[in-house]
Amino acid sequence: PPLSNLQTRDLASVVHPYSPLHKLDQMGPLILESGNGVYVRDTHGNDYIEGMAGLWCTGLGFNNEEMIEAATAQMRALPYYHQFSGRGTEPAIELAEKLKEIAPVPISHVFYTSSGSEANDTQVKLAWYYNNALGRPKKKKIISRIKAYHGVTLMAASLTGLPYNHMDFDLPFDGILHTDCPHYYRFGKDGESEAEFVARLAQNLRDMIEREGGDTIAAMIAEPVMGAGGVIVPPKGYFEAIQPILDEHDILLISDEVINGFGRTGEWFGSQSHGMTPTTISVAKQMTSAYAPLGAVMIPEFMMDALKSQSEKIGTFGHGYTYGGHPLGCALGVKAIEIYQRMNICERVRSMTPLFERRLEALKDHPLVGEVRSSGLLGGVELVADKATKRAFDPKQGVGPQTAVHLQKHNLILRPIGDTIAICPPMIIEEDELNALFDRLELALDDTEHWVAK
Ligand code: PLP
Repeated sequence: PPLSNLQTRDLASVVHPYSPLHKLDQMGPLILESGNGVYVRDTHGNDYIEGMAGLWCTGLGFNNEEMIEAATAQMRALPYYHQFSGRGTEPAIELAEKLKEIAPVPISHVFYTSSGSEANDTQVKLAWYYNNALGRPKKKKIISRIKAYHGVTLMAASLTGLPYNHMDFDLPFDGILHTDCPHYYRFGKDGESEAEFVARLAQNLRDMIEREGGDTIAAMIAEPVMGAGGVIVPPKGYFEAIQPILDEHDILLISDEVINGFGRTGEWFGSQSHGMTPTTISVAKQMTSAYAPLGAVMIPEFMMDALKSQSEKIGTFGHGYTYGGHPLGCALGVKAIEIYQRMNICERVRSMTPLFERRLEALKDHPLVGEVRSSGLLGGVELVADKATKRAFDPKQGVGPQTAVHLQKHNLILRPIGDTIAICPPMIIEEDELNALFDRLELALDDTEHWVAK
């Protein structure tokens, strides 16, 4: 169909992140105008199941009245204040207390940012600052993983282990190391058991640390379940195997819970679902159900003590964002967590998980589906050219993006990551809606099968 007025204006004026900019005028941007529960409506009046909760973030769906009221009340009371120079607001205090209450490990303080990327940049600064406070100026390198996604600011993009985030941006920065991706289906060797795969990755990590020198490495950052790298669920025992190696060398473990946090995996934090005991935690996205931008870093007491002593030495703690701890975001964070607690969000996600897993499992019979994987209500469907050999499609074929076109035709929004289709619906999704999501996905996969065959 010809482009609408809004689409034309959009193309004339807006740069779209993570988009094939050279092709958008053929595809036509999808302009959304309203949302209701798990549905969003475009400007042509088409309703879609938003099976990605936007960008893995609108856990409460798109028109939660209590959230709207909390936002309105906060805007009336105090639309802006900051945290600099020892200033604060009640919503920021209350949210920090709530985060401490639900934290999977003892946390003493919360540092606010406006986004997940900023939270991860802050993590690196805190790890550096901490080691300076301890008189260990050499202990600065950060270990991340191939296929990790930690954001797009210069340091967060350096931590990210995906080529598009580095290519032509002259990244990653020096001192950022990428170890193996724990994806057994893709990177397990022929005849290697899952346990052997885990042992090999742990040994590779140990070798990397010994090669670089443990006294030069400050921290390792990891998403419990990798999201934007393709919904990669770690094999059993993975974090249990690597954690002692980090401990031996006094390397902090940062859990990036930006996608995993707030019930998504059936626990408050993905680290709890996957045997990980982090030192510090990054959160964002579902913390406010994305109704306003907000990120945070949750830190333990011993780090807070070090930050104080270093601040005493140099005069101040010189880091912070104008919008970090924005009262609107904090009021929405408090309200979202209150709602999650009232609806027993972890229990709710766990009760929907069997259906989610059953429908995912059934997709394995589809000729294009190589692997399905999930944790709670976070799933991925990997499409392959040959199921027997796991041969991937040529990326130039664009099977994933074409599947997204088919999904949209069936009024479903999911996210292609290469040829993996990610699924991450609002956590309020009901059974009939989840079934409808999978029915539509099946139709789209059939379309893709015909398209590939042509
Ligand atoms: N960390 C993870 C695990 C993410 O998935 C994302 C975004 O998708 C980020 C960090 C970056 O967050 P933001 O886009 O809010 O900067």
